[in-house]
Amino acid sequence: MHGGDRYAIQPAPTMAERRHLKPEQHPVQSCIARCMTSDLILFLVFYWFVCGIVAGAIAVDRDRSFWGFFFLTFLFLGPLGIAVALLAAPLSPTTQTRPIAAGRRRFTGPRCGAENDIPENDTSYDCWRCSEHRKVKPKADN
Ligand SMILES: [Zn+2]
Repeated sequence: MHGGDRYAIQPAPTMAERRHLKPEQHPVQSCIARCMTSDLILFLVFYWFVCGIVAGAIAVDRDRSFWGFFFLTFLFLGPLGIAVALLAAPLSPTTQTRPIAAGRRRFTGPRCGAENDIPENDTSYDCWRCSEHRKVKPKADN
């Protein structure tokens, strides 16, 4: 009697029914879900990349390898890499506390970060590491 019903055209799902569909079943949401997933991955890759650069810059500041920290952070640690770089002790702490010889002043070259100890009456120096010529203020008279 009602056997013909099975051939009836299924009506489009109502909004209430759509809410119960899984994302991959929903024609619109499946697209959004896919797009959001790829965007999220892209964002995370970019974010990890930026973290790698920041960690590398911090590492360089501590006489450590930029690329070592960059790849460690970019490939594994992400934001944690920055914390690791911040916690990393300088490789050569002795150079940080190297005493200045009597009669000399120490200048840190802004280009390469090398320390230059020059005679205290000199008003310029050539960086031993990058050869940058820099003028410095003469020593103030006490
Ligand atoms: Zn230099």
